Formats: sequence, structure tokens, C-alpha cells
Amino acid sequence: MTSKADSSGEMPHLSPSVERVEELGIVGAGGGGFPSAVKLRTKVSMVIANAAECEPLLHKDKELLLHHSEPFLRGLRMVMELVGAREGVIGIKEKYQEIIEAMERQAPAGVRVVPLPDVYPAGDEFILVHMVTGRVIPPGGLPKDVDTVVANVETLMNIGLDRPVTHKYLTVAGAVRTPVTVRVPVGITIGEVIEAAGGPAVADFGVLLGGVMMAKPAAGLDIPVTKTTGGIIVLPSTHNLIRRHNAPWIHVERIGRSSCDQCRFCTEFCPRFLLGHPIEPHRAMQSLGFQVGADAMVSTLYCCECNLCTMYACPEDLDPKSVCVQWKPMARERGLTFKGSPESITPHPMAEFRRVPMRRLIARLGLGEFNNTGPLVDYAFAPRSVKILLKQHAGAPAAPVVKSGDRVRTGDLLAAPEAGKLGARIHASMDGMVTVGTDAITIEA
Ligand code: SF4
Ligand code: SF4
Repeated sequence: MTSKADSSGEMPHLSPSVERVEELGIVGAGGGGFPSAVKLRTKVSMVIANAAECEPLLHKDKELLLHHSEPFLRGLRMVMELVGAREGVIGIKEKYQEIIEAMERQAPAGVRVVPLPDVYPAGDEFILVHMVTGRVIPPGGLPKDVDTVVANVETLMNIGLDRPVTHKYLTVAGAVRTPVTVRVPVGITIGEVIEAAGGPAVADFGVLLGGVMMAKPAAGLDIPVTKTTGGIIVLPSTHNLIRRHNAPWIHVERIGRSSCDQCRFCTEFCPRFLLGHPIEPHRAMQSLGFQVGADAMVSTLYCCECNLCTMYACPEDLDPKSVCVQWKPMARERGLTFKGSPESITPHPMAEFRRVPMRRLIARLGLGEFNNTGPLVDYAFAPRSVKILLKQHAGAPAAPVVKSGDRVRTGDLLAAPEAGKLGARIHASMDGMVTVGTDAITIEA
């Protein structure tokens, strides 16, 4: 990509290339970690920038649009050029009027803003594509099946910045003294990042990574940040969300088997069921007491793990999402798939009215007491070391191209995918000396 001076005073133009996106190690920063270069080897007519950010308490994407609109819009325009799209759409919650107006003022030709309702999970790309275009991605399909590509705000910004991905933006929220959004070196520990938010506001706490709905509980404060960490949520260790996210499978199964009354609420609120997909979590629950039937198992394949059934819909506090997650690999192993035609997929007539407003979700999750802001602040992180995982993307771990004892500078290549394997390049996020381990490369200052 070459940068050219822009005599019009508009943002500089970079000539996009998929090879450059690959070289920079850009992956889906919204959590999926899919290598962007692979996604961009397609031709579609519309690129949708996913700014829906629907996980409660997270503010990263909104803050990037507020403070870094130029590289974001440049990245969006580059991706449109790469995939041959005539149209670019920024899908953002309608409550962010100030940002919508700013985007409308700055948007280049062919780019428009589509305001979205403040509901969960508006950021799920199947739901987003439907809200923006009215089209339904078929079960197991991709946005390109309905002539679109979806990319997260930070991913587009990384493409527009045209430099290796060495840092990550994320929100630190919940039981911290000052919720913030910060830019952190990849590989820094979550404990160091929590300090940037003034530290935990309670003595006994647990940490959820990514968000509260689709969270992974952190096993300790030394867990390193990756290219896909979008949020670090600190909660009192007695909080219901910490308890539920840490519930062992044996507990989920035993209680689910004895307590599910087949009320169907989990299915009736499931956003993918409402989209017309063949998923019915109540049937997966039913199968806990009996042998798992092929139909119930196929159904779980199309679960996006949004957790709405478990955290919001079920009146018995059961965990249909975990049951779906448990059955999914078995369905794959047996080669089961949806046999119907994509044309048979039609959204539920009540879909629009069953959307879950964010305000109600926050109340149901017991998050109302926490400060729901996360302004972007400058924070000078100076870690003594970083631990950069070799697998922080979809696909196979990257193979080191450095050896223990080598000295590197920020932005140097550390690891790359092996020939023919799906993966992404990994770069140094600080200057120092490397130690190559089996699953990570550590850099010490
Ligand atoms: S909502 Fe809960 S109780 Fe009702 S069918 Fe689903 S898992 Fe069972
Ligand atoms: S987690 Fe539950 S609500 Fe979400 S897609 Fe899966 S079954 Fe549906």
C-alpha cells in the first residue's frame, strides 16, 4: 500500500491490497479473530461496518469512531475497493446521535449510516445484516452469501492505519474505580490493564473477558491481552454473572435435566430462531433427559452462543446455551447439517417485537449499579514484559520466525502461519529480548 499526498485536503488515499492486510496480521478485532485477508478475498456489493457493540458496559467501538474516525473511514473505503463494493454502511446504535451526525458529515461517497435499535445482540453479524439489508444469511452461511462483508470498527481502523497490529483497544468496566477505554500492547496482562481503570473497587472479584454475555471467565490476572480482547469486566466474586459463567458442566446438566419444564422461552427469545434459523434450544434441553436426537443436535449447530437464552430468557436460571455448546461438536462429528433450502428461511413474524432492549438486559443481569461509561483515555503502559500468544486468531497457531535471545523492535515479525494453514502473522508489541515458548513468545524489556 502506498500513501499519496491528497491535494484536496481529504483523507490520504492508500491503495489497498489483500497481501498487505495479511502482512500486517489483521484479524477480526470484534472477538472472532478471523484473518481479515481471507475474508476480503471475495466480491460483494456492500461492506457493513459493525459498530453495533451490543455487549453491556463496552464502549470501545463508539470511542474509536469519536476519536479515530479518519483511519476508520479510510479502512472502510479501502475494504470497499478491495471487495468491489459500491456501498458502505456504518451500523451504529441510534442512541449515539452525536457520532451519527459526525459520521454523516465525514463519510466519503458511497458510505451511509444506518441507525440501529439499542438491543442485544445487534452486533451478531447475522442480526446486523438482517437489520441493515432485510436479507437473512442462511444457516451455517457467511455474509458474502447475501452479497455483503461485515467488519468490526477496529478491524477497519487497523486496515486504515496500515501498520502491524501490535496494540489493542479495550474497555475496562464493572467494579473498577474509573471505567475507561485504553490502547494496550498485545500481550500485557489483564491485571496491568485493570490498574489503568484505577484498580478493582472491591476486594474479592472475578474477571470476565470479552463482555458479560459471551464472556470467558479469566483464570487469573496474568492472562495476556490478545488481538481480540474487547473488554475486561471486573465484578464482585459474589455477582451472579461470575457464578454462572463458572458453573461446571455437571451442574448445568444435572439441574437442567431435573428443572427444565419445556416452557420454550429460551427458543422464543433466541435471536437466531427469530431470524428463521433451525435452532430450538428447548429441544436441546429436552435431550438432557433422553438420548440426543439428530434434530435436536442439528439445531445446536446454528447457535451463535449469544447467551440470551441462559442469561435473559430462562425463568428457571438454566443454561441452554451451554447445552448447545456441548452438543455442537458431536453434531459436527456426525456430519449433521440443515437440509432445508435457504429460501425456506423466513424471519418470525414477532421477531421485531421480541428484541431485547439493552436497558432491560442490564437490569436483568444485575449490572445497573455500575457506571456505564468508558471514555478513551491516554494511558502510558510500560510493561516489563509481554506474553504474545501464538494462537490469538481463528485457525492454526502461528510458527515462530525468531529464536530465544533475539532482540526485536515494536512491529517486528515474531511468527507467521505455516504454508497452507489458516492463521495470522504476529508482531512484537514492545522492544526487547524474546523467549520462544510452546504457545507464546515472551518479550522482556
Ligand atoms: S426457558 Fe428454561 S425452563 Fe423453559 S424450556 Fe428453556 S431451558 Fe427449559
Ligand atoms: S445462545 Fe441461546 S439464544 Fe443465543 S443463539 Fe444460542 S440458543 Fe439462541
